[in-house]
Amino acid sequence: AKSTARGQYAFYSHELEEEALKRSKLTTELRFAVEEQAFEVFYQPIFRLDTRETVKAEALVRWKHPERGYVSPAEFIPLAESTGLINAIGDWVFKEAAMFAKALRGSYAPDFQISVNKSPMQFLTVGKLDWAAFLTNLDLPGKAISVEITEGLLLQQSQEVNARIKKIRDTGMSISLDDFGTGYSSLSYLSSYEIDYLKIDRSFIINLTTSSKNQALCKAIITMAHELGYQVIAEGIETEQQLQLLSALGCDLGQGYFISRPLPQQDFVAWLASSLST
Ligand code: C2E
Ligand code: CA
Ligand code: CA
Ligand code: CA
Repeated sequence: AKSTARGQYAFYSHELEEEALKRSKLTTELRFAVEEQAFEVFYQPIFRLDTRETVKAEALVRWKHPERGYVSPAEFIPLAESTGLINAIGDWVFKEAAMFAKALRGSYAPDFQISVNKSPMQFLTVGKLDWAAFLTNLDLPGKAISVEITEGLLLQQSQEVNARIKKIRDTGMSISLDDFGTGYSSLSYLSSYEIDYLKIDRSFIINLTTSSKNQALCKAIITMAHELGYQVIAEGIETEQQLQLLSALGCDLGQGYFISRPLPQQDFVAWLASSLST
């Protein structure tokens, strides 16, 4: 029995060691990537469900890894959060998105908006870049940017979070509540914060056309959000049926593979141009 226990211990410790090694290698690579700005921002269109006009886009970062190609943010954002690299990455994404919004407002639509994600650590710590000052220097109104935060942040009910939300909204930028419905039932918290958009999580949309329960939930979320003065964005629309159903339920905006996958900047521009001519 003793030797089995020792064998198991050795097995686990070997696995843990490998995990730790992998993590530290990835951290070194990520730190290097931040120095080299080895990232790219993809943009996913967000359109009005009634007119099917693209009025916004979500900025989604990718890591251009020398061996692995584009690495998904789901893989490196958590590491960036725990190592503090998130602020440098987030500031870079914000700058890219703001400059792109500036260009699109000049060439495509004067009130085009781009939303950028702010993960919890990033939201609660101060990065090097003053976003409001950057917008001023770019001569871009705050309205051009929406900041996406997740509901876990609101759960803390803190003065800190409230003050930061207020500061962002004072610059004219808006707040989108991301992944709504996945974390905690934050209904009671909704009334304590000023937000602008509520994004219904993809998990409610997946079974929408076959689940009358999900339809009831979406309907209730949309009604409640409108009563509170928020616009609603549905995430993860993959079929025409889902789009039509959400539109019938009064949902304002939507994004998803049915409309378009997130695209590199140049492809996004081409996609916008072709969507105008159809
Ligand atoms: P998110 O903010 O919930 O972004 C939506 C994710 O859903 C994106 O994954 C997008 O590609 C994917 N998606 C969009 N439409 C569909 C669809 O119809 N079907 C399916 N199956 N998926 C769809 P992505 O780009 O891999 O990003 C994953 C997460 O990484 C994001 O989730 C966000 O939390 C985080 N993230 C991405 N970019 C940034 C960033 O610049 N900063 C921070 N802090 N987080 C980011
Ligand atoms: Ca998001
Ligand atoms: Ca989301
Ligand atoms: Ca998410």
